Amino acid sequence: MTALCAIILHPAGHTLSPVLHREAYRELGIDASYLAFDVPPEQLGAAVGGMRALGIRQLSVSLPHKEAVLALADRVSTEAERIGAANTLTLAGSEIAADNTDWLGVLRTLEPLGPWRGARATVLGAGGAARAIVYALGELGLEVAIANRTPERAARVAADLGARVASVDEPYDLLVNATPVGLHPDVEGLPIPVAALRKGTAVFDSVYRPLETRLLREAAARGCRTVDGLGMLVHQAAEQVRLWSGRAPDPERLRRAALEALDAL
Ligand code: NAP
Repeated sequence: MTALCAIILHPAGHTLSPVLHREAYRELGIDASYLAFDVPPEQLGAAVGGMRALGIRQLSVSLPHKEAVLALADRVSTEAERIGAANTLTLAGSEIAADNTDWLGVLRTLEPLGPWRGARATVLGAGGAARAIVYALGELGLEVAIANRTPERAARVAADLGARVASVDEPYDLLVNATPVGLHPDVEGLPIPVAALRKGTAVFDSVYRPLETRLLREAAARGCRTVDGLGMLVHQAAEQVRLWSGRAPDPERLRRAALEALDAL
């Protein structure tokens, strides 16, 4: 029987997840379909119940549900617990397991560019993506400082994940944008003044539409090493596929499929 997986999000919006997962199924010869469902918060419990009832093998979990699903799962991974959010629900027998693969997406993207141990990171933002990023940077051995528009939120994430609160004018080796600033259609947005970009540092933008954000463009022009947000997305999806099917797709092939889909938008 054809397996079913899906993404749940609200409001309905563009997502590359169907492209990535369907490409993985094609590559691995897995008989599965992947759909997208607009699930408002008041229907989240029913949607997760439906997953169990219908035998949906996996739900990718997007905004705004990443925190709320923790309470609806039978098991929560150590990482999801620590981060305080899950982006994946996987059916294992009659149990639903909650995992976070976003942090692994960051780890797999940045690890090859290291070593990072002892380096200083400044993370802009304190939402769900920032939480996964801060956790991953901690695992890579960076000292992480968080700067956010709402300082109380930065303080909470810092306290939860063993980081500290930063101001944007502190020195850093790695700068990370974990805010939506620069995202399509407001592509001229910059999450940090240009003067704060320093030659010789690395800049990672979690935004991937456009692939080269204004932040990455300005950073490259100032001699920074730049990393786009597509690697994080591709690697988190590859890990999701591995979690339910037991087989890992080729991230390069997924990236090519995502680039084609982005080009067609
Ligand atoms: P979220 O939970 O809503 O958090 C958004 C964060 O950005 C908050 O800290 C918010 O600050 C800050 N922010 C929002 N608008 C801002 C503005 N105009 N100026 C300054 N700060 C602003 O969202 P999220 O889930 O963390 O996602 C954030 C972004 O990460 C997304 O837009 C997406 O582009 C990216 N992302 C990428 C991937 C990937 O795989 N590459 C995965 C997930 C997310 P306040 O606390 O002050 O509201």
